[in-house]
Amino acid sequence: MSATEAAPAPDAADAPPVRLRAAGWDHLFTGEHEELRVAARRWVEREVVPHLDDWERAGWVPSSAFRRAGELGFLGLSYPEELGGQGGDPVHEAVFQQELARSGSAGFAAALGAPMTIATPPILKFGTPEQRERWVPPVLRGERVAALAITEPGTGSDVAGLRTTAERVDGGFLVSGEKCYITGGVRASHLVTAVRTSAEGGHGGISFLVIERSAPPKGSEDDVRALGRDRGDGISASPLQKLGWHASDTALVTFEDVFVPEDALLGELDGGFALVMANFAWERLSMSIGAVAAMEDVLERTMAFVQQRRAFGRRVVDFQGTRWALAEMTTTLEACRSLTYETLRRHVEGVPALREVAMAKLLTQRALVDVCDRCLQLHGGAGYMREQGIERALRDARLGPIGGGTDEIMKEVIGRSYGL
Ligand SMILES: Cc1cc2nc3c(=O)[nH]c(=O)nc-3n(C[C@H](O)[C@H](O)[C@H](O)COP(=O)(O)OP(=O)(O)OC[C@H]3O[C@@H](n4cnc5c(N)ncnc54)[C@H](O)[C@@H]3O)c2cc1C
Repeated sequence: MSATEAAPAPDAADAPPVRLRAAGWDHLFTGEHEELRVAARRWVEREVVPHLDDWERAGWVPSSAFRRAGELGFLGLSYPEELGGQGGDPVHEAVFQQELARSGSAGFAAALGAPMTIATPPILKFGTPEQRERWVPPVLRGERVAALAITEPGTGSDVAGLRTTAERVDGGFLVSGEKCYITGGVRASHLVTAVRTSAEGGHGGISFLVIERSAPPKGSEDDVRALGRDRGDGISASPLQKLGWHASDTALVTFEDVFVPEDALLGELDGGFALVMANFAWERLSMSIGAVAAMEDVLERTMAFVQQRRAFGRRVVDFQGTRWALAEMTTTLEACRSLTYETLRRHVEGVPALREVAMAKLLTQRALVDVCDRCLQLHGGAGYMREQGIERALRDARLGPIGGGTDEIMKEVIGRSYGL
């Protein structure tokens, strides 16, 4: 090792904060994307972060935050202008996902992001012009919230095993069944729901219906929350208690003989499995993109902490073990970034990337859990306290290897992509 390579870091208490910026990705993140980053970060820092503790405690992001994000154009970045979007590309959305992730609350990021990232894309991609006109613009304005309802108490990874039925009746369908772990399920004004429309089991008999709740009451936040209760429309939703993602409402939704008109069928009857598959690529990729940003944020905050915290007469960063831990974690960050950004590049260029998306999700979600855990350790007792926000980062990160397809399912996708 050369003397330069081994040079000790200056022992300055006021060392400048380390910024873990991406280098060499200017071809992907252009000046325009970076301008969006500045605007999104400003909004998050000024209008979101000051309220996050309250929203986490309440388990609820107020409707005004959705409307404000809509007003600023953040909810329709990659949606067509004729539907009220900004006409941008997936990189614009990726930048916004990253700034949501850097807020320090994945629950907030999920609550705000899920309607545009997972619930509305099937309507955009498979909906008729009338369906798009009806359900896309209000979501982009933040006036209405959409949820994607696929998972059921009896089945999650095995989508083909879903049992919620939609029986054909005059003019539409009668839906009965239960959906669980639905992001935004309490608040949602409409649920993009996977149902079984044919007695034939497996992939073949699945369809998607956009199921509307009754018109949301106008008035206080409590009135909006009351949407989650059974209001006589045959749909009831109740919030589930969970390890992390506290700001996001995660619901058990029950349908009891709910009449859904025929014009709410999305795509082909019995062709819903294609919608499920089409959605996975962006859901998984955006989770990877968010994890890279969350990892950056936690590492930067940890680097700042160990540079000022002292033990045994030295800064914690002066212990070689600390520097090695940080060296390992920044190496992990850059490996995650390279795979994720390269996969994003392929996605933007329309190059098939099923395997790479699964690899990026598998790598980044587990890596984020590990990085958060190690960063918490470097904070000592302070890391276990709410004040630092590291404990929230760790709790929130644990969803990554489960949601949007588990680690085990990612390994199946990767293995099968090689014909194994
Ligand atoms: C906070 C949160 C938010 C969510 N939001 C939504 C949402 O908005 N909409 C929605 O529809 N769903 C949502 N989900 C559901 C999520 O997508 C599922 O939890 C996930 O797909 C796993 O399904 P499961 O929970 O039924 O687990 P299961 O499928 O029951 O899996 C249990 C275990 O078995 C393993 N396993 C299953 N199949 C295999 C296999 N073939 N090989 C090896 N191992 C296997 C799994 O990896 C896992 O370890 C959310 C979940 C959470 C926790």
